[in-house]
Amino acid sequence: MKKEDLDRYLFDYSIELGFCGYGAIPAHLFTMEREYLERSLLNSYNGSMTYLSRNMEIRENPALLLEGARSIIVLLIPYKPAKKQLPEYPGIASYAYGEDYHGLVKERLRMLASKLNLFYPDARYRVFTDSAPIFEKALAVKAGLGFIGRNTLLINKREGLHTFIGVIITDVPLKYNEEIVPGGCGSCRRCLDACPTGALVSEYVLDSRLCISYRTIECKNEEKLLYPEIERAGMIFGCDRCLDACPWTTRGEPTEWPGFLPLKYHNGESILTLDNNEWQSMTEETFSSVFKKSPLSRAGLSKIKSNLNSISKSQKK
Ligand code: SF4
Ligand code: SF4
Repeated sequence: MKKEDLDRYLFDYSIELGFCGYGAIPAHLFTMEREYLERSLLNSYNGSMTYLSRNMEIRENPALLLEGARSIIVLLIPYKPAKKQLPEYPGIASYAYGEDYHGLVKERLRMLASKLNLFYPDARYRVFTDSAPIFEKALAVKAGLGFIGRNTLLINKREGLHTFIGVIITDVPLKYNEEIVPGGCGSCRRCLDACPTGALVSEYVLDSRLCISYRTIECKNEEKLLYPEIERAGMIFGCDRCLDACPWTTRGEPTEWPGFLPLKYHNGESILTLDNNEWQSMTEETFSSVFKKSPLSRAGLSKIKSNLNSISKSQKK
């Protein structure tokens, strides 16, 4: 089969599966990205996320993840909600309104990748979505799926900023993308101005220790950090301020992936309208049953309640 025909087939099937971006690149080195990450680590911008300093060889050379790897297919997955949560409720980042994306996305990545065996019966592949030490955003840029904004997020000029990235590494040779999308920030600095904590310490540079997203999810020992008290901007899980501030965020349609629709609480109401009291009085049992498939389970109920307390404290000041 000609590479062009396989490319067309995979692209068409990716659309059928609900992906909103497709591009393939050769498996090559990401040396510049490694150097950038190492500089960030030297500044301790990773906070307690020490895993970022591990597997540097794989990060630089993702081909190490599959023997004989030749190609990397990069996919975008749309998660834009039809409606944003109202600001009077304890805030949840929009990517976490529904089910955790890892399982949902991997299932469809496998469906797409398995088609390689129709044409190459011995083809081998592995699928990833935020599940391997690779520079996913850099892969997406090289695959022609967007540019990195000053807020450090991937921006697709048609789909906006509400996209996850999926990756297939395979030993099949493919038709590769040749066009890189030019940057689209121009003279805009809205994301830097919108960040309530100054976590975007300069253009394209994020200090996670100051970022509400890190502080409300990953960070376990806040009191040990350089900045023990930090503004929460009303958020109990994640933060969307620098995403919402971006003019490109109006691009893209609401997601049609059913798993990304807002979860329901046990009484049938949307989790986006749970108020302070409902969060504070929630039991571990209820949390586990409602949020077992949600990204919020990563933080856990006690962390979420402590985030809620931090919001209350900063409101009293
Ligand atoms: S996620 Fe929030 S805190 Fe983090 S850089 Fe963006 S606006 Fe700032
Ligand atoms: S808000 Fe402006 S500067 Fe920031 S990422 Fe979007 S376009 Fe770029």
